[in-house]
Amino acid sequence: MPRGRKKKYVRPRIECDCDYCGKSLEYPYVHISLPRTGYIVNIKQKGDDVVLNKQKPGAVVGHYCNTECYRETL
Ligand SMILES: [Zn+2]
Repeated sequence: MPRGRKKKYVRPRIECDCDYCGKSLEYPYVHISLPRTGYIVNIKQKGDDVVLNKQKPGAVVGHYCNTECYRETL
């Protein structure tokens, strides 16, 4: 059994519009925040956790072109 195999995270294909500039996207930068705890997960870093977090009540999901657009909303 191979061990320690590095898995490269691939963004899921999501058709949506950028929440900041309205541009249509297929592979957006997705930001998920959970206001109840203040815990913020970045889909690019924690891909395996995203589905679970999306299912939590109160999760706010934002779609952006990239981190630049996201930062403009802060
Ligand atoms: Zn944008």
